[in-house]
Amino acid sequence: MSKQVIMPKPGTKIDLSTFDPDFNDDYHKSGAREALKSLQKRMRELQAMLYAQGTQSLLIVLQAMDAGGKDGTIRRVFEGVNPQGVRVTSFKKPTEEELAHDFLWRVHQHTPRKGFIGIFNRSHYEDVLVVRVNELVPQSVWEKRYDHINHFEKLLADSGTRILKFFLHISKEEQKERLQERLDIPEKRWKFSLGDLPVRQKWDAYMHAYEDVLTRCNTEYAPWYIVPANKKWFRNLIIARAIVETLEDMNLAYPEPEADLEGVVIPD
Ligand code: ATP
Ligand code: MG
Repeated sequence: MSKQVIMPKPGTKIDLSTFDPDFNDDYHKSGAREALKSLQKRMRELQAMLYAQGTQSLLIVLQAMDAGGKDGTIRRVFEGVNPQGVRVTSFKKPTEEELAHDFLWRVHQHTPRKGFIGIFNRSHYEDVLVVRVNELVPQSVWEKRYDHINHFEKLLADSGTRILKFFLHISKEEQKERLQERLDIPEKRWKFSLGDLPVRQKWDAYMHAYEDVLTRCNTEYAPWYIVPANKKWFRNLIIARAIVETLEDMNLAYPEPEADLEGVVIPD
C-alpha cells in the first residue's frame, strides 16, 4: 500500500477524493492498540508537565461529518489524562445571544488557558461548513471568514497556544453503516437524529466545503491533519501520535521549586 500524506503542507490544494479513508499504513488492529497505549502513557507524563509549567496551552479541533467519530476520539485518545487539565467544548447551533455577535465571539471564550488542553468538538469551522452549505449567511459574509479564522488562530499561536486540527475523514458508505448501527443498537439510538439525513444528502457539498477549509486554513502555526477514520483504531493512533509529537516539541518542563528545599524538614 502506498504512503498517504496525513499532514499536507500549507498551501496544498486539497482534493479529498485522493485521500483514502480506509488507509491504515499497514498497521493491524492489535499493533495499533499497543502503540496507542504507549503513546497514552507518554501523553499523561507530558500533560502533567504542561499543567505544572502553566505557560503554554494546546488546542485540539475535531471536525467530521455526523458519526465521523468525534465523540469516540475524545473518549479513547484522552482516556487516562488528568481531567483537571482538560476542557472539552461542544459547539452546537448558536444561540440568539451568540448570533448577535461576530462568529468568533463564542469560540474565543473557550480557548484553553495556560497549562490546559482544550478540545473543540466542532468549532469555528462550522461557520464555513454548515453555514456555507445551507447559505445561512450570504457568500459575501462567509467568504471573509477564512482570513478571519487564520488571523484568530495566529493570535492564539502568538499567545502561547499550539493548535492541532483533525478532520476525521470517513467514507459515505462508512457513515451509512454507522448511522444504521445507531438505529439498530438500542444503546446507540439516542444518538440517532433524523436531522442527520438531510445533511448526508448534501455530502458532496460538504466535502467541497471541507476541501476549501483544508486548503485555505492549513497553516504552519495551525495545521490540519486529514485523518483516515474508517478504522477507529487507526484514527486514534494517528491523533494520539500527533498530540504526543506536538507536546514533545513544546519544551515542557516542571517549574523550578520556589526556593532551595535542600534540608527542609516537615514538622511533626
Ligand atoms: P453527534 O455526532 O453525537 O450527533 P453533534 O456534534 O452532531 O454530535 P448535535 O447536537 O447532533 O451534535 O449537532 C450539533 C449541530 O450544531 C450540528 O448539526 C452542527 O452543524 C450545528 N452547528 C454547530 N455550529 C454551528 C454554527 N456556527 N452554525 C450553525 N449550526 C452549527
Ligand atoms: Mg449530530
